[in-house]
Amino acid sequence: MSEQANQEWLARSRRAVWHPCTQMKRHETLPIVPIARGEGVWLIDFEGKRYLDGVSSWWVNLFGHANPRMNAAIADQLNRLEHVILAGFTQQPVVELSEQLGELTGLGHAFYGSDGASATEIALKMSYHYWRNHGQTGKTEFVSLQNSYHGETLGALAVTDVPLFSATYAPLLRASHRVCSPDWRLAAAGEGAEAYALRAAEDIERLFQARAPQLAALIVEPLCQGAAGMAMYHPAYLRRARALCDQYGVHLIADEIAMGFGRTGSMFACEQAGIRPDFICLSKGITGGYLPLSVVLSSDEIYAAFYDEDVTRGFLHSHSYTGNALACRAALEVLAIFRDDKVLAGNRAKVEAVAADFALLAAHPRVADARQLGMIWAFEVKEAAAGFSSRFFSAALAKGLLLRPVNNTVYLMPPYVISVEELQQVFATLRALLDEGVA
Ligand SMILES: *Cc1c(COP(=O)(O)O)cnc(C)c1O
Repeated sequence: MSEQANQEWLARSRRAVWHPCTQMKRHETLPIVPIARGEGVWLIDFEGKRYLDGVSSWWVNLFGHANPRMNAAIADQLNRLEHVILAGFTQQPVVELSEQLGELTGLGHAFYGSDGASATEIALKMSYHYWRNHGQTGKTEFVSLQNSYHGETLGALAVTDVPLFSATYAPLLRASHRVCSPDWRLAAAGEGAEAYALRAAEDIERLFQARAPQLAALIVEPLCQGAAGMAMYHPAYLRRARALCDQYGVHLIADEIAMGFGRTGSMFACEQAGIRPDFICLSKGITGGYLPLSVVLSSDEIYAAFYDEDVTRGFLHSHSYTGNALACRAALEVLAIFRDDKVLAGNRAKVEAVAADFALLAAHPRVADARQLGMIWAFEVKEAAAGFSSRFFSAALAKGLLLRPVNNTVYLMPPYVISVEELQQVFATLRALLDEGVA
C-alpha cells in the first residue's frame, strides 16, 4: 500500500492498456486511478484512499464490491462447472436463470450474449428474421429515439444517437430512423411530462404511417435514456408506443440493459407503463456487476416463427461464452438477493429517507432540472463551461466520490447497498462542490 504502487500501476496501465471511451493522450495529465480492492460501495486504491462508487462501476454493480454472498455463490459454481458449450448442451444455472427471467418479464426463450451491445444485435437480427420468416422481407429498417444509446458495435451503433460515438463511423453504419425523444426537459413551457410524452409519440405515428412496411422494430430505453444524461420520461410514451407498434405491425424492443434489475424502482422499467415489449434486452446489473452476461427474451410468437424443419429459419447466431455457467450462477444469486432482502422495498425506503437532502441540493442556485427515478438522481449544472465533466470528475474524486458527469449533467447511480448516511454524505459533497464553484 503506497503512493509508489499507485504510480507504478498507473504508468504500466498507460503503457499496456488501451482504456475504453478515452482519448489516451488525456492521461498525460488526467491520472488513471488504480484500484487495489473493493468493499461494498467503496473502491480502494494502493494508498488506502477510498472512493464511493457513485456510478456503480458503469451501471453494473448492484450489491457492492466483494459482496460475500455473491462471492460464495460464484466460488461454489466454480468448483462444479465454469462453462460448457451451450449449443447442444445445457447446465443447471442457465436453465434456472432462464425460467426465473421468463417469470419476471412475461417473455421467454432466453437467448444469451456477453455484453449489452451483443443483446442489441441479437434483438435487431431476430426482429428482421422474424419478419423474413413470415415472408415480409421488406421489413429491414429500425427506429430509435433521438439521443438513444444501445451500444457500440456496428449494428447497435446504427440505432445509437450520440454523435460523439457514432459520427466518426457514419460511413460504416446502416441508416436508421430517429423519432423525437420523450425526455420531459424538452417539453414546452407549461406542458406537463405526460402531455409532452404523448406529443413526442405523434412522431412515431407519422413515421409508421409513412413507412411501416419497411420497418422491423422500434427500440427504446424504457423510462430513462441513460447515456443521454439520465433523460427521464413519462410512462404514457411506452403505452402509446406499444399501441402504435401493435397497430402498424412493428416490433417493440425494450432495451433495459441499464434500467432493468430495479434501477428505475420496479424490477423492470416497462412494468411502470404496464406494457410487454416483443423483446427485452438485459445486461449490466444482471450479474450484480461481477461477470459479463446479456440476454434477450422474446414472446412465444417470435419464437414460434423460427421453429421449423428448415435450418435457415432458425436463429443461427452465437457467442463463444453464450450462457456461461459462472455468469448465470451470479445472476441467479442477484435474483435471490432481490427476493431475500426485499431490495425494491428497501430502495424505496432509502429514496424517501434522503428526499429532503436531495430537495436541498435541487434548490441550489446552480442546479437545474433536478430529477430522480428509482436509484438514479440527476441534475444539470448551470453555467458549466466546456470541459466541465472532467473538472467535476476530478474535483469529486479528490473528495472521495467517483462520478462521471455527461456534459453538464451530474448523476448519481450508486450500488443498492449504499446506506442512507452515505447518500446524505454524497448530496452534501455535491453541494460543497457547487459552492466551491467547480464549473
Ligand atoms: C450500456 C448500454 C448498452 C451497451 O451495453 P455494453 O455492455 O456496454 O455493450 C446498451 N444499451 C443501453 C441502454 C446501455 O446503457
